[in-house]
Formats: sequence, structure tokens, C-alpha cells
Amino acid sequence: MTASKNLRICNKGHKYYKSSDCPNCPKCEVERKPGSGFLSKLSAPARRALEHHGITTLDKLSTYSEKEILQIHGIGPASLPALRASLEEKGLSFNKRLS
Ligand SMILES: [Zn+2]
Repeated sequence: MTASKNLRICNKGHKYYKSSDCPNCPKCEVERKPGSGFLSKLSAPARRALEHHGITTLDKLSTYSEKEILQIHGIGPASLPALRASLEEKGLSFNKRLS
């Protein structure tokens, strides 16, 4: 008698069954995924910085200019191309107002 699935417990205490050797907890993976796609393209510090400022949607992001985004601690110029691309995918852009 061989068990096809093994009960595993991740380091957060989620119980899940996996038949493979894949160590990823499905519950943790869901939690880790940000609600909107553009945050998932960023580095963790950049994502946290935006979340800290309540910028969790592209609509919200588009109310900021590039200059304002760069002033947020944790966001570097390296994050800008990904942000710009995500905005463009939705037909949006950074706020162009002169600051
Ligand atoms: Zn877990």
C-alpha cells in the first residue's frame, strides 16, 4: 500500500497534500501573489514601497508622475521600465503634469 499523496506542513503551518517533491505550499503561493499583476513584476522592496503608499492598482499609479514615483524610498530607476510597461498595457501612463 503506497500513499500517492503526502501530507506536508509548510513553515507557516498550512497543511497541504502534494504527490510530487515540489516543496511549494499552494496557500503561501496564493498569498504571495499580489492582487494586481503589475506589482508581481517588481522587486520585493519596490513592491512594498508602493503598497506602503497605497499604490496597489495601475489606476492609482497613473496619478503619479515618474518623478514622484522615484521619490518614494525603495523605488529605483530600474523599476520604472516595468511600471511604464504595465501602465501602457492598460492604455495608461504616468501623470505628465509638471511638478
Ligand atoms: Zn503555507
